[in-house]
This record gives sequence, C-alpha cells and structure tokens, in this order.
Amino acid sequence: MNPTATPIEHFLDEDKSLACIHCGLCLGSCPTYLETGNENDSPRGRIYLMRAVQDGRLPIGETAVRHIDLCLGCRACEAVCPSGVQYGELLEHTRDHLEHRHKRSWFQTLLRRVAIEQVFPIPERMRIALMPARAIKALRLEKFLPKFAREALSLLPEKMSASELPPVTPSDGERRARVGFISGCVMSVMFGETNENSVKLLTGTGCEVHTPGEQVCCGALFAHSGQLERARECARTNIAAFERLGLDAIIINAAGCGSTLKEYGGLLRDDPKWAERAAKFGAKVKDLTEFLVSGFGFRVEVGADTSNANAKPETQNPKPLVTYHDACHLCHAQRITKPPRELVKSVAGGNFVELPESDVCCGSAGSYNLTEPEMAERLQRRKTENILKTGAKVVVTTNPGCLLQIKAGLKKAGRGDIEAIHIADYLAREIK
Ligand code: SF4
Ligand code: SF4
Repeated sequence: MNPTATPIEHFLDEDKSLACIHCGLCLGSCPTYLETGNENDSPRGRIYLMRAVQDGRLPIGETAVRHIDLCLGCRACEAVCPSGVQYGELLEHTRDHLEHRHKRSWFQTLLRRVAIEQVFPIPERMRIALMPARAIKALRLEKFLPKFAREALSLLPEKMSASELPPVTPSDGERRARVGFISGCVMSVMFGETNENSVKLLTGTGCEVHTPGEQVCCGALFAHSGQLERARECARTNIAAFERLGLDAIIINAAGCGSTLKEYGGLLRDDPKWAERAAKFGAKVKDLTEFLVSGFGFRVEVGADTSNANAKPETQNPKPLVTYHDACHLCHAQRITKPPRELVKSVAGGNFVELPESDVCCGSAGSYNLTEPEMAERLQRRKTENILKTGAKVVVTTNPGCLLQIKAGLKKAGRGDIEAIHIADYLAREIK
C-alpha cells in the first residue's frame, strides 16, 4: 500500500506530546517492547512516531499504523513515567487521526467497522451474533475454521449468563447510599451473573442500586479504536441517563469501562455544554472494589482463617491457593491495586499468593485480541506461564476481557481445572 502525503495537522496537544523526555524508564514496563525488543514498539518510540506524523516528517502509511496498532493501550508506560506523560490520551488522539485517513485491508475494516463498532457495543446485537458462534462450539466444528476464527471462538466461555437488572434494587436493611450501576455491554451479555453478584454486594452494604435502562456502551471500544466522536456520543447519553438520578456514586465492575467513564471530563472538555457535567459524572465513578473498601464499610464474613499469613496452604489448609491478576485499566489507568487485593485476601487469607508480572497485560486489551491475535497470543502464553508458576487454583480479576483471555489461555495449556473468576463472583460465593 502506498503511503499518502501527510499535511501538518495538530491532532496532539503540543505540551502533552512534548512532555516525553526520552528517558526510557517506561521501556521495561511495556509488554510489546518486552516481547519484540523493538524501540518502535516501545512507548518512547511510539511517541516519537506520533510526533513525526503530526509534524509531517512521517507519512501515514504502514510503518506508523503498524506500530501504533500493536500498542495495547494498557498504559503501563503512563504509570511509571516520571514526566507525567499522558500516553493514553496521546494514543487515542493519534488513533482517531490515523483511523480517518488510513485505508485498511477489507478484513480489518470489516472487523473494526462492523463487529467491534456495530455489534459489541449493542447487547441485543451481540446476543444474536453469538448464537452461530455458540452453535459451532457446541457441535465442535471449530477445526474447520481459519486460525483467527478459532482463536476468537476460544475466547467464548463455556457458560454465559445474560441478565437485565431492574431499574432500582433496594438496599438490604437501612439505606446508606444511592448508587448507579453501569451494566456494560459484554458484562450484561456474557457475565449477567457477575452483574447480579455485584449488585448483591452493593445492596449488602446498604446501597440502593439504580441501573437506568437508558444507559449505553461507555464508549471505551470507540475511544480505543480511533472513533472519538462516537465515544463522546456514548458519554453524553450516559451522563444524561445518570445525572438526573442525583446519585452518591456510579459503580462499574469492568476495569476497561471504568477508566473511560472516569475520563469523560477529558473526553468532553472542548464541549462547553457538556464539559462540566462530564467532569462531575467522572468524579462519581468508582470501581466496585474501590467502593467496597471505601467508607461504606464493606465487610466480608467468611469461614476462612485470615490471621495466619505465613501458613503453607497446600499442606496445612485444604482451601485452594488464590492469585490476583491486575487488569491494566484498573492498575495503570486508575492506579487501583490495593482494594482488590484487600478484598481477595479477606477471603483467601494465607492462601493468597502474588502473581509474577501481575500487572503485565494478558493480551486481551479490549478488542486487541481480535485485531492483533498474534501478539495477544504471545502475551496470553506469558500470563498463563506466570499463573502456573504460582501453583494457584483460582485466578481472580476485575475485567471481562482479562477473564476470557485468561480462561482461554489456561485451557490451551491443558489447565482448564484452574478457575479464572471475576472478583464480584468470588466475593459473593464466599460471603456468608
Ligand atoms: S514516556 Fe515517560 S518514561 Fe517513557 S521515555 Fe518518555 S518521559 Fe521517559
Ligand atoms: S500503552 Fe502499553 S503497549 Fe502501549 S506503549 Fe504503553 S506500555 Fe506499551
């Protein structure tokens, strides 16, 4: 494909894109750099490429697009950057710029414009689209499909549960707070039971939970795939749906959606009608785990003895070893690492074991495992190997994409006996 001449267009904020001091401290945290060792697949290299495109020194062609496409958007680089580079925002604006100017192959166009943008964000369409996929799996016909389709099908869980939550779920006992709940696209179609358990945990702490039916996709899929205007449309609809309810907090149980919801203020900052409302909405958004350990006093009452942190669980305690995988958009984008660990440890006690490279992306990264299956599989294997090193029988995490990716990785490794579970399901199962 011939690169097209690139006029100088300022799609990046000048100060933000010049904040990188090229120190290279982010390189060791970048999963794609760890895998390829190529500077162009590192945060520093990618920022250089973004600037080169903006300045017209690099045409929009395969080189620029390839290295930007291969970025997971995991934001591990952002979390370690001493210069405060807002890499996530630079990436979203670069993708938006490239996506509207670069012609992709028919396959990538179909995948992005139809499957990712027209099906995944709309639960009714996703339910219908999953029917043939589930039939193929049930009839074990995967072997007749090309590799990319087999890989995509391997992500589908054996058990799926859809659910539609009522507009209002009353608190157990006296009401202490009124919270909104984001039911999510993938969550409501594949992890309905997880949503129900999340609401159960919230009502158990005295929350009245509001789940307005007018809510739509958080916009993360659009923001991450270079469709910022569509992400903004989602944001406006959600803000209008929740702000009229006058809530104390808005709760989300999917890390990827949570970071986008919290960043609505940035997404709409140039829209005078919505900027302030978006910032207010973002400030109310809380990940389920950070909310549960906050002042609302969530308590887990379980049978596990959590006092003996040095126990050798496999020999002294029949309960299984449990580990925790940090979803990128929770630990890097939202900087939340302690609350989920506290919650898991409150159940597992001495049976908790840390996962090596817990905060290195599992390769799921939103729709990345569909658009970049090769790198996604490499990172899936890396994550699986690390899980196996721990000897854990249960892997807890906080994001549907990670769950699907880790489950599929364990199955491929012949270790389908190891359970990957959402933290809401894990807590709900263990609470008395
Ligand atoms: S992004 Fe941050 S950590 Fe990475 S090279 Fe630039 S200044 Fe250094
Ligand atoms: S977002 Fe993740 S994959 Fe992309 S440059 Fe940063 S650390 Fe690397």
